[in-house]
Amino acid sequence: MPTETDMTGIDAMRRLHRTVVQVSSGGNLVDTLQAVVEGVLDAVGFEVAVVSLLADDATYETLAVAGPEGARDQLLDRSLPADAWDAELAIAESWGALYFVPHERLPEGKPVGWVPEVEDENEDDPDAWHHLDALFTQLRSPAGDVVGVLSVDLPHDRRKPDRFRRELLEMFATQAGIAINNARLTDRLRASEEVLRQAFDGAGSGMAVIGLHLGDAGRFVRVNPAFCRMVGRREADLLHSKDDDITHPDDRAARAALLGELVKRGAAGSPRQSEKRYLHSDGTIIWALVTTSIVWSADGRPLSAVSQIEDVSSRRAAEAELARRADHDVLTGLPNRRTLRRRLVEVIQSSQQQQDRGAVLFCDIDRFKKVNDTLGHGVGDRVLMAIAGRLQAAARDSDMVARLGGDEFVVVGRGLSVAQAEELAERLRVVTAEPIGIDGLDEPLCATLSIGIAMMDTQTTDPDKLLHRADEAMYQAKLAGRDAYRMAETTAQD
Ligand code: GH3
Ligand code: MG
Repeated sequence: MPTETDMTGIDAMRRLHRTVVQVSSGGNLVDTLQAVVEGVLDAVGFEVAVVSLLADDATYETLAVAGPEGARDQLLDRSLPADAWDAELAIAESWGALYFVPHERLPEGKPVGWVPEVEDENEDDPDAWHHLDALFTQLRSPAGDVVGVLSVDLPHDRRKPDRFRRELLEMFATQAGIAINNARLTDRLRASEEVLRQAFDGAGSGMAVIGLHLGDAGRFVRVNPAFCRMVGRREADLLHSKDDDITHPDDRAARAALLGELVKRGAAGSPRQSEKRYLHSDGTIIWALVTTSIVWSADGRPLSAVSQIEDVSSRRAAEAELARRADHDVLTGLPNRRTLRRRLVEVIQSSQQQQDRGAVLFCDIDRFKKVNDTLGHGVGDRVLMAIAGRLQAAARDSDMVARLGGDEFVVVGRGLSVAQAEELAERLRVVTAEPIGIDGLDEPLCATLSIGIAMMDTQTTDPDKLLHRADEAMYQAKLAGRDAYRMAETTAQD
């Protein structure tokens, strides 16, 4: 317990300073309040200290008490309306920033919260402390807002505090107000950080924060479990990598451009949506719809990019399948008439530019109706599929084998001479003639092809005429008895 000698001069200031450092050391609100009331006992020279904080509902709640057991039991968790404090202030004697209410001024019948059972000494001394005297001061934030009240009681020497001790109490209360305000802000910040953390971690869609500082530019600063699951990677691994490391190489430049654009446009530019591909740890590609905003520092520097990430792989796959169906024949999976026509236009252009020849081979299965009529449409379908596969296998990778419809197929070959085109026709005929085994049929089926060849050269410009010439030649092959190929006569001015 400090003696009167401690409480004067430099020793008292040193003690006060140590206590203030402790009080301000950044604990939570509860710890800070306790340090404040204990600090009064250690460094200011009173036996009782009470802190009441002003709550949002304009009441003062007593949250920390230091002193004898009885005082704590009586005072802790009591709440008083702000009006009651105002009444107290109105009758108080003002000592600088302190308020002293001599016991004589207490209104008749005023309820007294706690009366220590102490004998009042020196009743004749006008400066003697009376057990019903009250001394308190307001605690303020650095901005000057009242955050609470610090009340003290029972000076060690049982005398009204002299100027020096009043000064000590004032200095201590100023620092205590700032420390309490800081602790309260820190507690609120922690609570709001906790809300955000739970929202981030519990979100059903992926979320990621990417650094924009020099030191962590492009790195994952934070990722949530949904994102980890989406890309099949552990949080610890992601936090060691950059967004680019798990972004499809073809999407990296666009992603960098989008971030650059967002930073350039400032706060008004966010958020932006874009689709990009992530690389899943199992090697598959994840298509994601990414909504990105930039987090700015108070002085307007970009700190990080926050992304919300939805897996849209199945939607993308469905779109790709629709596009494939628009361009392909459903039964055989071969390119359809529309795709064939596009390819013919390309090949005609390139053969004009490269002074190159090429050929169109129009193939029609002989007497195919008979297969349908005798064995049914289902068997007919399987024959079409088998022949489609064989034609594709017999053609070069660079050739296009398309199904025009019915039992008609077309092969487009680039850079073919007449002789090579005839060789190809022969090959197509041979592979088609191989017996076709069909599940459920005892005997394999045999099919043959009639083929018409139209050569293209630098004069060829019209894909439809070219196709028509090949069709005509095929018809000639049919007339000649089928299972044969015919070369169309004219090759120019299509
Ligand atoms: P030709 O030797 O003169 O070519 O006689 P063909 O019997 O093959 O007659 P054509 O080529 O004119 O007829 C093709 C037939 O193919 C007509 C149609 O019944 C059948 N067909 C068309 N599309 C399909 C299909 O998707 N599946 C099946 N199973 N048959 C089809
Ligand atoms: Mg036919």
